Amino acid sequence: MKLSIKDIQVNGKEVLMRCDFNVPYNTDLEITDDTRIQAALPSIKHLLENGAKLVICSHMGRPAGVPEEKYSLRPVGLRLAELLGAPVAFADDTIGENATLLRAQLESGHAVLLENTRFDEREKANDSEFAKALAGNADIFVNDAFGTAHRAHASTEGVTHHVSQSAMGFLIESELEFLLEKLAEPERPFLVIMGGAKVGDKIQVIRSMMEKADEFLIGGAMAYTFRKAQGYKIGDSLVQDEFMDLSLELIKEAEEKGIKFHLPTDTRIAQEFKDDAETKVTAPYSEGGEIEEHWEGIDIGDVAIEDFKVVVARAKTILWNGPMGVFEKTNFAKGTIELAKAVAASDALTIVGGGDSVTAANKFCNPGDFDFLSTGGGASLELLEGKELPGVAALSNK
Ligand code: AMP
Repeated sequence: MKLSIKDIQVNGKEVLMRCDFNVPYNTDLEITDDTRIQAALPSIKHLLENGAKLVICSHMGRPAGVPEEKYSLRPVGLRLAELLGAPVAFADDTIGENATLLRAQLESGHAVLLENTRFDEREKANDSEFAKALAGNADIFVNDAFGTAHRAHASTEGVTHHVSQSAMGFLIESELEFLLEKLAEPERPFLVIMGGAKVGDKIQVIRSMMEKADEFLIGGAMAYTFRKAQGYKIGDSLVQDEFMDLSLELIKEAEEKGIKFHLPTDTRIAQEFKDDAETKVTAPYSEGGEIEEHWEGIDIGDVAIEDFKVVVARAKTILWNGPMGVFEKTNFAKGTIELAKAVAASDALTIVGGGDSVTAANKFCNPGDFDFLSTGGGASLELLEGKELPGVAALSNK
């Protein structure tokens, strides 16, 4: 078990905290969605209320290892102060003169936010000199940035070697609780719903979930790789040929293990990738319904939606990762909307595994109707695949 933020004594001590403040800005550098800042508040408040001298760091965007105005964390500092109802000092460098000065002046119960860690190329290289300077005089490190915990960077992994204690914040703690602990012994039937476009990333999760799941629902563009492998025509739909063999192996493995593996019975197709494109639904594959040339599968079909709802309704634990179709476009969103609503209405333990499915859950449902919405994309997938996350592995053990 890793050390938790609840286990540490922080009164009067300098604490370095890694947050995930990678929020979207508009062209005027105004924050358009502050969910990630809100999500970090419980850990920040806890540390401040317990008397920490709190130094917060984060990355933002993908600068080229040098300062770039559009990736500055200054607007985040202002919003954080607003949400806390308390001033937050802002250092316009990460380990430079200004940061050093503000850190030296820091009093118990107050916070300073450092400028973007990725303004220095040594962050992503996990350079130990940079990590040492970032740790500075901090005695304790708290990592609450789940979204970057799968990267061994100076601010997620390197710093742990330069402090006496490293603990996880509330966010990481709840991610591990839901994605690892609760799924280790799920109430059955345990249903895994996978969708989206990146078969390569997700097929490993399907493989690892084979050990635990009772049923799978496969939607999104992923489904066409499976259907093509089975010998069906899939027209111009998105396919990753290199995963066809593996997809057949998975179907076979499911059969052998008595796991129900559901692919969409029919498909909503379109010829143009436009918001108001005309769409139609194919006949079920079992009735000869295939996807002709020049047509592309963009969502699960109407029969598939009804089939999937029945499967969702009988599950007692549901893990959902990936949209059923191109939900960003109005005419291609029905499958994702109906599935999201079915999951939200379920009495099962419902876990939404990050990325686009969380966006869809927030957009089409009341987020409170799900038991857990993961804040990670790649990090959630790696955790579900059974991989060790360097940003978690490096924390102190209890
Ligand atoms: P992922 O990053 O793997 O979770 O994929 C999410 C993306 O998959 C979303 O942006 C969807 O628009 C896209 N997607 C879902 N279904 C399809 C489809 N049938 N064809 C193309 N893209 C899709």
